[in-house]
Amino acid sequence: MNTSDLKNLNIAIVGAGYGGAAAAKALSLLGANVNVYEQATEVREVGAGIGLRPSSMAAFRQWGIFDAIAAVSSASDYFEILSAGGDPIMKDTWPEFGNEKNTYLIHRNDFIEALVSTLPDGMLHLGHKLESIEDKGDGATLTFTNGTTVEADLVVGADGIKSTVRKQLFSDQVPQFAGEHAYRAVVDADAAHGLVVDDNLRMYIGKGTKVYVLPLRHRDQLSFDVTVLNPDSTWTPEVSQEDMLATLEGFDERIVNTARDLDWAKVSIRAVYDIDPVDTWHSDAVVLLGDAAHSMCHHQGQGANSAILDAGALADALRDAGSVKEALVEYKAARKPVTDELQRISRQGWTEDELNDVFPGQKPATQSQV
Ligand SMILES: Cc1cc2nc3c(=O)[nH]c(=O)nc-3n(C[C@H](O)[C@H](O)[C@H](O)COP(=O)(O)OP(=O)(O)OC[C@H]3O[C@@H](n4cnc5c(N)ncnc54)[C@H](O)[C@@H]3O)c2cc1C
Repeated sequence: MNTSDLKNLNIAIVGAGYGGAAAAKALSLLGANVNVYEQATEVREVGAGIGLRPSSMAAFRQWGIFDAIAAVSSASDYFEILSAGGDPIMKDTWPEFGNEKNTYLIHRNDFIEALVSTLPDGMLHLGHKLESIEDKGDGATLTFTNGTTVEADLVVGADGIKSTVRKQLFSDQVPQFAGEHAYRAVVDADAAHGLVVDDNLRMYIGKGTKVYVLPLRHRDQLSFDVTVLNPDSTWTPEVSQEDMLATLEGFDERIVNTARDLDWAKVSIRAVYDIDPVDTWHSDAVVLLGDAAHSMCHHQGQGANSAILDAGALADALRDAGSVKEALVEYKAARKPVTDELQRISRQGWTEDELNDVFPGQKPATQSQV
């Protein structure tokens, strides 16, 4: 689209998670008039660390915010998979993207704060929970629960796994339980019993349990994630520390000791959900992005990265296409095959034996064995 068309384009983004904030950055750099509406009254993410892949870091470099992200993260050279007891299974460097070779390990809250801090003043509107959306073909009207109404030429639904935009316009499908729980905590490095040795991500695999050890050495901390098969689909299940310790029997003693010392009140306990692939990602004036379009299980560590790459692809499509309508077609063509595949392989976290142990004869619909 030409520069003056982009300058006249009013874009409303619903949701200021990683996807919405990244889209706000990328789309505002095109010169468009961007506003972001977030239901929460402050922007924050619960504990635990994530890895920002080389492809995401390349996007940040293109948007001029690489340094802001790198300042609150640690560069990792490789990841390693080990048995429960610590025997090496495989070790590999991160997939390179252009000149970027490292994955940057970052605390979820540091990441959203750094990302939002790079947005122009006045772009983010907190306390705006979308109630309804009306698609008018060449634009859309958003109504928020605080009574505000907004008109936009293009609406980006970046409102997460339970997306209101998706539900009201594109798909009635609901989140799918993955048959597993994730217990996540951030601990000080000196309480991690020697698990923090460098800046590399390690995953320890036991039967029906995986432990992700993600160092945050710039914070002198460790992000510690225990993912277990469990049939309880309650979004925030009640699980005791003893239950978790039982799943860690036979693991490296540094892991068991770290788990035993956790302050259980500070551990984030979540059932894991994703969605089936969504056929319709957009109309001519409304488009889905991030988890709203393709929420996936965390086994490939690609949910946040996919949201960021969506944002870059949407901006590229708007820059290169002749109209918003054409751009949305190009965006979906570029991203959906990739995220469909990531959704599929992210459901392959467990062996048939492990699934049979926990779900004899009736494994969750989302699970296919490795
Ligand atoms: C604890 C945890 C650990 C994870 N670990 C990893 C990892 O290691 N690597 C990885 O790549 N991914 C990971 N993920 C997944 C990753 O966080 C998500 O894929 C990513 O956050 C998706 O970003 P998003 O912006 O699309 O959605 P979200 O982060 O869900 O953001 C959606 C935003 O929309 C807002 N919103 C929702 N409804 C409305 C409404 N009606 N009106 C206005 N605003 C609304 C929400 O408040 C939220 O701010 C993890 C997820 C969790 C929960």
